Formats: sequence, C-alpha cells, structure tokens
Amino acid sequence: MKTLIVGSIGLDTIKTPFGEKKDILGGSAIYSATAASFFSEVILVAPAGDDFPQESVDFLQSRKIDLSALHKIAGPTFRWTGYYEYDMNQAHTVETKLNALSNFDPVIPEKHRDTPYVFLANLDPTLQLKVIDQLKKPKFIIADTMNFWIESKREILHEVVKKVDFMILNDAEIRQFMETPNIPLAAKRLIELGCKGVIVKKGEHGALFFTKDSHFSAPSYPQEMLKDPTGAGDSFGGGFIGYLARTDNISEENIRKAIVVGSVIASFNVEDFSLERMKTLKHKEIISRYEMIRKYSEFEALNIPNWG
Ligand code: AMP
Repeated sequence: MKTLIVGSIGLDTIKTPFGEKKDILGGSAIYSATAASFFSEVILVAPAGDDFPQESVDFLQSRKIDLSALHKIAGPTFRWTGYYEYDMNQAHTVETKLNALSNFDPVIPEKHRDTPYVFLANLDPTLQLKVIDQLKKPKFIIADTMNFWIESKREILHEVVKKVDFMILNDAEIRQFMETPNIPLAAKRLIELGCKGVIVKKGEHGALFFTKDSHFSAPSYPQEMLKDPTGAGDSFGGGFIGYLARTDNISEENIRKAIVVGSVIASFNVEDFSLERMKTLKHKEIISRYEMIRKYSEFEALNIPNWG
C-alpha cells in the first residue's frame, strides 16, 4: 500500500552540543518520507524553492520517493534555524523563514487522491485541511503539528483534529495545545475534539498512545550516540505510517508495533545530522533494534509468595 506525505522541505541551520551545520537538508516531509520509504512506496507533496539542491533531489530519488507532486516554487526554500542545549529533548527556534512554504498551495494529483495511508507532517494546518479535502476515502490519516502552529492557528488545528484518525504530537505540544500539564488528560481532550487516537512522543523517553478505551506505553531505545535530534519526531511519524501501509493493518495490536517501529527509525535518525544516518541504515539494523526494545520492556506477572 502507498503512503502520501505532505509537509515542509527545509534547509536547516542547526547547532547541537556535537556540532554546527548550515543549510542542511531537513523539513518535516523530507524526514518522514525518507523514514516511510523503508517500508512503503511514498508520494511526497511538499514545496521546494529554486535553491533546493539537485543532490537532495537525487537523494530522494535514490529512496524511490515519487516526486511527481513536488511543488517547485520561485524563490528560496523554507529555512529553519535552531539549537539544542544539553537537554536535547527541547529544540529552541532562532528563526523560521517560511519562504516557499508561504506560497505553497498543495495540489494532490488526481491519480494520488485515493492513496490509502496519509501522513500530514508538520505544516500550516490550513494547508493540512486543504489536503484532507482533496482525498478520496483514505484508510488512515495521521497529522502532526508544532508550537508555531498551535500559537498562531489554534482554531484551524481543531478542525484538523476533527478530520483525521490520529494526532501525533510531542509532550510539550500536547500540553500547550490542550492547556493542561497532564498528558493523559490532554490526550482525552484531544480525542473528545474528534480524533480516534493520540500518539505522544516523549523524545528519549519513548512514546504514549491513547484511544478512548486503551493505553500503550512504548519504551525508547537507550541511545548513547545522540548527535542531532532534529527530525526525530518526523522520522517517527514516517516510520509509523510506512509500516502501517506496508502491513495494511490498523488493528490496535499492529498500531502498537508501528509505534515501536517509528521509535526505532527515530533512534537511528538522531545518530547524525540531517539524513546522514538514513543513507546507510539497513533493514536488518531496524529489525535488530526493534527486538532489543521488545526485550527491554518484557516483564513477568507479579507473584510474591504469601503476600497480597
Ligand atoms: P522535528 O521532527 O520536530 O525535529 O522537526 C524538524 C524539522 O521541522 C526541521 O527539519 C525543520 O525544517 C522543520 N520545521 C521547523 N519549523 C517548522 C514549521 N513551522 N513548519 C514546518 N516545518 C518546520
């Protein structure tokens, strides 16, 4: 099954305690499409300015990502400048230059409108709604967002929540969006707004999953080689939707697996800047890290003799 991914293409300037890079390939759609491409055919819908480097196009093609709906926009590509301190769970934005993103009007080509699995990566929620309106009976839509849009387009984000199956946010974002420090309560409020499930990414601490009647807590991989967390959330989302599309199964059991798959891909992505680690990642590495996480989180039923 195919996956449609809509989001940003960015040239990021990033500083972490482990280095500094200027104008490197990034953007929510790029990280998520690359992650999804390990599992599924991906159609990328995103805006590239006229300075978007050919070598980045070549990279996306090498991942067999369908670029027929890449929107070429006159002027510079979207740019994001940010930094991380020792707590790398927290990205600090220095500057956001929307550039091509502000002239992006996503048009889904007719032949792709019935793509069954859809990831609305972090993007202006007005555009996320425009995409939803063009889709023909998708099996599953999941949408991401961030503080930038929660602050500027809260009401429109509510409309997105009503029209998707799942929302995926990080812990700080869901607290901010639902105006409570309590994550389970925030997830409950989000579900009451209209979506069926909520995935909360907790950076190096794993992820939580909520529906109206169930809860799952996914462990994280104890990553010692963290260099740059940029794109962790997007590659999580991309791995999640790519795996779901590949297996074409949206049972709760399979969604739990997809969450751990997303977590595994994200854990590789943070080992280097930009998409560098994704370039060398092998299927067998994904499987072996998935198994490690599975083992780390196994535990037996409580059985204390003569007690309780
Ligand atoms: P994350 O997975 O949350 O680390 O996402 C990082 C990516 O989000 C970076 O590569 C940025 O280019 C992109 N980004 C940052 N701000 C925005 C924004 N306001 N809208 C869309 N994409 C953004």
